[in-house]
Amino acid sequence: MKKIIILGAGVVGVTSAYFLAEKGYQVTVLEAKSSAGQGTSRANGAQLSYSKTFPLSNPKTLKKLPFYLFSKDSPMHIHAGFDLAFYKWGLQFLAESTNKKAHNNNDKVVKLALKSKAALQHVLERSKIEFDFNQRGKMYIYTSEESYAAAAAYVDGQNAYGFDWRFMDIDEAVAKEPSLAHIKDKLVGVSYCPIDESGDAYKFTLELAKTCEKMGVKFVYDAPVTDFKREKGRVKSVLAGGQEYEADDFICCLGVYSPIVMKKLGISVPIYPMKGYSITVPATVKAPKINITDEGKRIVYSTIGGRLRVAGIAEFGGYNYEIDRKIMDRLIDDAATTMPDAGDFSKVEEWTGLRPMTPSTVPIIKKAGKYENLYLNTGQGMLGWTLACGSAQELAELVG
Ligand SMILES: Cc1cc2nc3c(=O)[nH]c(=O)nc-3n(C[C@H](O)[C@H](O)[C@H](O)COP(=O)(O)OP(=O)(O)OC[C@H]3O[C@@H](n4cnc5c(N)ncnc54)[C@H](O)[C@@H]3O)c2cc1C
Repeated sequence: MKKIIILGAGVVGVTSAYFLAEKGYQVTVLEAKSSAGQGTSRANGAQLSYSKTFPLSNPKTLKKLPFYLFSKDSPMHIHAGFDLAFYKWGLQFLAESTNKKAHNNNDKVVKLALKSKAALQHVLERSKIEFDFNQRGKMYIYTSEESYAAAAAYVDGQNAYGFDWRFMDIDEAVAKEPSLAHIKDKLVGVSYCPIDESGDAYKFTLELAKTCEKMGVKFVYDAPVTDFKREKGRVKSVLAGGQEYEADDFICCLGVYSPIVMKKLGISVPIYPMKGYSITVPATVKAPKINITDEGKRIVYSTIGGRLRVAGIAEFGGYNYEIDRKIMDRLIDDAATTMPDAGDFSKVEEWTGLRPMTPSTVPIIKKAGKYENLYLNTGQGMLGWTLACGSAQELAELVG
């Protein structure tokens, strides 16, 4: 039986372990931290956002760059200083930002998202996993004419993939999701996409890791990968936590750390970290039942098992988890103003995470060039929870 080593036990590594174990392979997962899901998968926005896949690299982002760079209300912040890696990544991002490329990239990500929805269902039919799964769809709220007008063409385009995404009358939306009542007068429009879902990515990762263990997958924690041994165009073994591990195939699922670790093998992985912020507060009975995205502010709201999770912000500043107090306070203030009755905002758990962004927004799921037994499954960016199961299934097909 083929032996496979997966590097990284985030949601992407653990789902990869599941789909490879299902094929009958002998899988070992090496993880630097003391348990699964402690990286970017720890406290994300919780949204399984199959409908909203449009890449960040597109002409509209470029047009809004002055706003993103200079407005105090901007959801994007750039503090890259002299980080050459950012400028190299930025040039690739610019090259992906034409209309044609953005549409092609969107097409790839939508197809992967739809595959992911089906792949998650496949996992749940075979194993009972409790992760506060919510299948009530997602509402998009628009508080500016500009964001509302921009949405129409996008929604039309996405509906070509069979989404049934539609615009709603504001009264109808508030009746369907009463948590919006407080900001009803500020709403310019609302749309609703029934296929979207949500759930706690961290719980899912931990629970799926347990399922994997029952299937025979071995997890080695506190085992940071530090180096590799090579032999005749193949990776022979990996050194992690002072031990050497040999396998037939190696899979890199290291999220934002993929470029750093793969560099040891001379492989360049075009990923740059994009920091995001989240808060989690105890939810009240008035917390939203349906997932919500505030399209103007680029903030998402999900109720997950008695907690309200609010997430957003795109900050480019390297491998830095620091909380910028002004940015975090604005997120808390936005949430408490938009949905004052939805949670207890005196008990805020704050978190930041680094999204593994590719210049095109399309994840990297492929054989890693130089070595015939090394694969990459990484770079899921803003949608790593949404795309994890589909990416893992695609990887398992590739490994054969
Ligand atoms: C604020 C925020 C909100 C988000 N909201 C959403 C959302 O609503 N929906 C959505 O789909 N996505 C969302 N995302 C994106 C999503 O969380 C990520 O894309 C996803 O978690 C990436 O998973 P991963 O497994 O690739 O990375 P990670 O979860 O970071 O896993 C990589 C693992 O590799 C390990 N590792 C690193 N270096 C080494 C080493 N040398 N040796 C061994 N192990 C190592 C790490 O410890 C980690 O466990 C959000 C992200 C952020 C930051």
